[in-house]
Amino acid sequence: RGIYQYSTAAALEDPIKPPVNVEYNKLLINGQFVDAASGKTFPTLDPRTGEIITHVAEGEAEDINRAVAAARKAFDEGPWPKMTAYERTKIILRFADLVEKHNDEIAALETWDNGKLYEQSAEIEVPMFVRLFRYYAGWADKIHGLTIPADGPQHVQTLHEPIGVAGQIIPWNFPLLMFAWKVGPALASGNTVVLKTAEQTPLSALHVAKLFHEAGLPPGVLNIVSGFGPTAGAALCSHMDVDKLAFTGSTETGKVILELSAKSNLKPVTLELGGKSPFIVCEDADVDQAVELAHYALFFNQGQCCCAGSRTFVHEKVYDEFLEKAKARALKRTVGDPFRPGMEQGPQIDAEQFEKILKYIRSGTDSGATLETGGDRVGAKGYYIQPTVFSDVKDDMLIAKDEIFGPVQTVLKFKDLDEVIRRANASRYGLAAGVFTHNLDTANTLMRALRVGTVWINCFDTFDATIPFGGYKMSGQGREKGEYSLKNYLQVKAVVTQLKNPAWL
Ligand code: NAD
Repeated sequence: RGIYQYSTAAALEDPIKPPVNVEYNKLLINGQFVDAASGKTFPTLDPRTGEIITHVAEGEAEDINRAVAAARKAFDEGPWPKMTAYERTKIILRFADLVEKHNDEIAALETWDNGKLYEQSAEIEVPMFVRLFRYYAGWADKIHGLTIPADGPQHVQTLHEPIGVAGQIIPWNFPLLMFAWKVGPALASGNTVVLKTAEQTPLSALHVAKLFHEAGLPPGVLNIVSGFGPTAGAALCSHMDVDKLAFTGSTETGKVILELSAKSNLKPVTLELGGKSPFIVCEDADVDQAVELAHYALFFNQGQCCCAGSRTFVHEKVYDEFLEKAKARALKRTVGDPFRPGMEQGPQIDAEQFEKILKYIRSGTDSGATLETGGDRVGAKGYYIQPTVFSDVKDDMLIAKDEIFGPVQTVLKFKDLDEVIRRANASRYGLAAGVFTHNLDTANTLMRALRVGTVWINCFDTFDATIPFGGYKMSGQGREKGEYSLKNYLQVKAVVTQLKNPAWL
């Protein structure tokens, strides 16, 4: 099945020393780094080796209580919601400047804990983090209500008020970006936050939260609790003093989060969940370009993207050429130590995801799909997987239905637009879609027919701070990023004042 361009097993045995030290490994509550109430810690592992990077304080219900109490006090007594919006803007902008200054060490920490390419962390993700905070800093003093004409002698206005204490739970695939998507709009609009990081990737959030305090963030406004889902996460979701929840992760956990909200105080919930996004290559496509974009849409971040273009639908006219070139492209993909320059793919996050992906690959072969290339691990250490391509994939196979969350491309053939629309929409998910065509009519038809939250036409994974993101169907509820995200963190209060002898109505 060809020779991979990946690092030799020997190179993987000898990982590069990350150019950073872990400085913070305790919970950040009320502006202070503290041990967990229980004194417990848990190890966070290097995905390149499975070895321990450091031990981190393990927050549980008691720590969530302490963090929520701090956030509650910072909200109810101030100073955060009582500051002028412009004062909040200045603190958030100072924070963005500090992160920019420490770009490389933050990027190194993210790569060490997550396994993503250092070049990706340093050149894309930390700069995007900075961009997101600057964008939301700009929003702080542009949030305002309306004056509304009523059918009577009343002055009617709306106040857009912060909702209160926001509980936020994030996953491990983009630890810094998920922090920014959630914390940025919440703080800009005057809320206070308790954030629970993913147990696989606790480090970067603690580091940047420390910088936020250096930038002048008052104690209690942003609290970070590292810990596990069923303990710390569930306690946050059930807490009676939390006014709003925002979650990114699996659809299964999303259901649990909604249930915990319903069983406690009915706090509103926004959810960013899984996906099985179609990437549609139309008959007019320039095949070389389509192969490259489809490859990126699936393999970016080791395939660990909720919006990965994980069902590659290819028109029958270009299918054979596409498949041959997609296979050649996967074979050329460089897999290796994410700190090594020029790599395209690092390890998967952990043993659990690694095993799950290999199981899906076995299920693909067992169900009759053709394994064109890949299918196995790379090296003997850590969680590296060969870039894998399946052809002859049928819609009812598990590999075409489930979120694999790994470097496994499934290629499906289609005949006409109506058919591909029906098949693309026949999923419980509806997060995103890619369309590759230069035919304007085809693009317009698909763009409206696809039941998804984002359609990328001749591009993929374009994630500017201004662009809303979220899912249809079981891919989630609500939108993050852009102006839309602010709505998640605001209450609308109607104020009606009776008028006496008004000059006009
Ligand atoms: P997960 O949904 O279990 O974890 C995401 C976050 O939710 C973590 O912070 C976790 O601690 C927390 N959590 C888990 N159980 C919880 C509970 N009962 N109450 C409150 N919080 C809880 O995801 P996972 O186990 O890390 O990954 C499983 C699969 O989920 C992956 O294979 C992938 O398919 C999908 N996933 C999707 C995304 C995404 O961006 N949509 C991100 C990560 C994983």
